[in-house]
Amino acid sequence: MSAETLTVLEPATEQTLDTIARGGVDEVDAAVAAARRAFPAWRAVAPGDRARLLRRVVEAMEGAWEELALLEARNAGKPLASARGEIGMAIETFRYFAGAVERPNGETIPVAGGLAFTEREPMGVIGLITPWNFPLNIACWKMAPALAAGNTVVLKPAELTPLTAVRFAGLVLEAGLPEGVVNVVVGPGRTCGTRLVEHPDVAKVAFTGSTEVGRTIAAGAAGTIKRVTLELGGKSANVVFADADVRAAAEAAPWAVFDNAGQDCCARSRILVERSAVDDFLSHLQGAVESIRVGDPLDPATEMGPLISADQRASVSAFVDGGVEVAIQGSAPDGPGFWFPPTVLWPVPLDHPAVVDEIFGPVAVIVPFDTEAEAIALANDTIYGLSGSIWTRDGAKALRVARAVESGNLSINSNSSVRVNTPFGGFKQSGYGRELGPHATDAYTEVKTIYINTEGTP
Ligand code: NAD
Repeated sequence: MSAETLTVLEPATEQTLDTIARGGVDEVDAAVAAARRAFPAWRAVAPGDRARLLRRVVEAMEGAWEELALLEARNAGKPLASARGEIGMAIETFRYFAGAVERPNGETIPVAGGLAFTEREPMGVIGLITPWNFPLNIACWKMAPALAAGNTVVLKPAELTPLTAVRFAGLVLEAGLPEGVVNVVVGPGRTCGTRLVEHPDVAKVAFTGSTEVGRTIAAGAAGTIKRVTLELGGKSANVVFADADVRAAAEAAPWAVFDNAGQDCCARSRILVERSAVDDFLSHLQGAVESIRVGDPLDPATEMGPLISADQRASVSAFVDGGVEVAIQGSAPDGPGFWFPPTVLWPVPLDHPAVVDEIFGPVAVIVPFDTEAEAIALANDTIYGLSGSIWTRDGAKALRVARAVESGNLSINSNSSVRVNTPFGGFKQSGYGRELGPHATDAYTEVKTIYINTEGTP
């Protein structure tokens, strides 16, 4: 095994939180071999027994809920209440997909001369590569349906936030899952991630991360015609019409972009406001932004924590430097920690990077529009298509706009994006494939068609 170590920092203090073993290509190969050995027995577990084992994972996670939440809050720098909610969603994801194991998984199709039916078969070893913003939660969105469908997995979490994944690997063994069904390798993307993508014994890679790395993964997977699902970046629009409850839209807008300190692929960092409502909107937005409590993730009063790293802070700062006007800015602590205050830019030229690029930090821009058609055109003027919101009291307009916006997940008079029981994923360069919801196990299975000749004529 590799003798190299990885220092894991606490972003709120910049202090070392833990030092753990850092894997490389050899560790990935060993994990894939273990997953491959475990696959035949795991796929053969009777459906009811597999469901029962996944429900034991639910119980083990419930028992460790507070421990996992604290670890996530400290390692990712997120408020403890948010971390508790995310672990809760991870648990719900396992509960939901435990139910999928015993549901019908094929069709019968009328054909001449006999009977044709389809089965959905597990693929084998699935490689999972995940980001640092919602570490265990996003890993569970992939693991739960993959395991429910009868696959074994190798998870490579982000180097910055590996601790809950490592703890989870212990929990699944305590829950009674056989050795080798869930494997975790902590290490860099360029070595461990690349090896998972290129490994001939990995049947599929499910990736969440940046669009840039997603492109590399899609290209690398082509060598083995590996199945890939990609959940990538976003630049979502929050569209506010003048006939909306403008106050409600303005007061909700900060949490549509500053939640998780803006490090959220669904962040509505472009707030499109009908021109006649801009002043009213800004007056309500100001109080909501300035009152956000930014600070120690473990303080129960905290609503927003630090950014994940010094690099991330430098990258977010670049969007605000360079002469653009700051209309509203909240506060953030001084001293150690990768702090950045919630910030709203206005007015901003439409070709400014803050309008065009994913920021992945607590910075939003206001963009005015005059007509419904212009709002749709602005919302779609991006390479991304992940999420978005529409605020109006006109139901027909809300539906027209929702249908016209090129995005995988839209909310009307709400900013919610992700639910365990509805599909989640992107249009355009926000990726392909869907996670969660009733069809998520499809992405971890192959369809096999079997024909039975019943008439004796071959
Ligand atoms: P990232 O792309 O830098 O890294 C994601 C993962 O990929 C990490 O585990 C990393 O080690 C690994 N990796 C890096 N280079 C690799 C390579 N060449 N080959 C294989 N693996 C490699 O992303 P990040 O900075 O951790 O996360 C932020 C990004 O994730 C943002 O763009 C955000 O929008 C996106 N994201 C998307 C969703 C979604 O569901 N669409 C959810 C959360 C985050």
